[in-house]
Amino acid sequence: MNGVLRTAEPPVSGTVGSALQSVPIANPGDTLDGFVPPSVHQRQSFDFMIVGAGFAGAVLAERLASQAGKRVLICDRRSHIAGNAYDHFDDAGVLVHRYGPHIFPTNSQRVVDYLSRFTEWHPYEHRVLAEVDGQLLPMPISRATVNELYGLDLKDDASCAEYFASIAEPVEQVRTSEDIVVSRVGRDLYNKFIRGYTRKQWGLDPSQLDASVCARVAPRVSDDRRYFTDSFQAMPKYGFTRMFERILAHPNIKILLNTDYREVIGLIPFDRMIYTGPIDEFFHLRFGKLPYRSLEFRFETHAREWAQPVAVVNYPNNHAYTRSTEFKHLTGQDHPKTSVVYEYPTDNGDPYYPVPRPENADLYRQYRELAETTPDVFFAGRLATYKYYDMHQVVAQALSVFENIVATPKGVPAPELVSVTR
Ligand code: FAD
Ligand code: UDP
Repeated sequence: MNGVLRTAEPPVSGTVGSALQSVPIANPGDTLDGFVPPSVHQRQSFDFMIVGAGFAGAVLAERLASQAGKRVLICDRRSHIAGNAYDHFDDAGVLVHRYGPHIFPTNSQRVVDYLSRFTEWHPYEHRVLAEVDGQLLPMPISRATVNELYGLDLKDDASCAEYFASIAEPVEQVRTSEDIVVSRVGRDLYNKFIRGYTRKQWGLDPSQLDASVCARVAPRVSDDRRYFTDSFQAMPKYGFTRMFERILAHPNIKILLNTDYREVIGLIPFDRMIYTGPIDEFFHLRFGKLPYRSLEFRFETHAREWAQPVAVVNYPNNHAYTRSTEFKHLTGQDHPKTSVVYEYPTDNGDPYYPVPRPENADLYRQYRELAETTPDVFFAGRLATYKYYDMHQVVAQALSVFENIVATPKGVPAPELVSVTR
């Protein structure tokens, strides 16, 4: 059984999934009589070469093709489109996310409107429990969390705010991820929920990371048990990869997979480039390597319907892995078996997370300055702009980069686009 997800979806016409497929294919019995080989000028040339078929690359390819009539070649060194958002059916027929759980909350109506052209949505509100002191407790830390952890009976937001104020540790200037948590809820909660998880995830103490990292899971005084409070919370109804197939299904877009752009750069003519890979790699590590944190994934399929009570369980204090994710909670798939992934953080492997701390921001700035003197190359996405962006932020950034490209004449370097908010 392949699950209920994709079966009801109509097929997408277009050019997805094959490489440079405008070359005619000969049939048995065809002769070469009358065949004229294309001259160099007749050969396919592209207005844009896009490196990377993740959110940044795919959105830009779609905008350039459909709104500006540009001919685009999008290439990826992986064997699939969708970048880190790639999902697929595993051997048991369960829809899984190859690069860890991807959930789609956003407050941006612009981003929702844009993506809704390519997908319908499955409503989903994400829930995470953290294993602490032998209990499974709601994360982020909330009134519900402290009531359950300490056996309290805080009845409303005001009493919880008062309680947090009584245990908070004053911090003169909030700079780090330790500061932001202890200044709001004190050291015991910090030690139980944040310190161990963060050290595992980043290989760094929270005091060595920007406040923005743990601000993502800011404590709240309400008893809202959802992980996110965004106005829009849903998953693409037929999965992320299906949505990407539709984004890229334009006759002006050709897709080249299993190909590092450096293998083809001298072979395929193009005018301008959009680069969405790691920016330090683009410049041959000229100023040194920018740190990106990686993960190893261990997938398991169980011959029972459910494995855990919610989509994600975090393990701040036990195990080498940070969290386990059971995909069916996210996708809504109906299946008698279930698949779970465990994430093991590491410094080696594919670059997944930029590491937000001041010295890395300084190093990135040097690469950014170089990018700003490099004409006809636009940098977009999480790795190329070294920002800990979620998917909706990458989409918003790509939509803005498109406007920037349209406004930038050929031969002129483009300034960096600043700040995409949550
Ligand atoms: P990517 O998706 O990384 O795409 C870049 C592509 O460029 C890659 O496919 C790569 O193979 C290709 N590439 C790089 N260099 C080359 C080269 N030289 N030649 C050819 N191709 C190249 N976001 C959320 O909103 N919600 C979540 O729940 C969430 N969970 C996440 C969980 C994990 C474990 C991770 C790692 C990320 C998560 N994210 C989540 C973030 C999300 O994955 C990113 O915001 C988004 O995928 C970034 O898109 P992108 O296009 O910038 O980069
Ligand atoms: N975090 C933590 N404990 C948790 C969950 C998160 O300390 O139970 C911290 C940790 O530093 C993590 C960061 O908050 O890297 C951001 O968490 P998020 O779930 O947003 O991470 P992502 O999904 O991007 O891996």
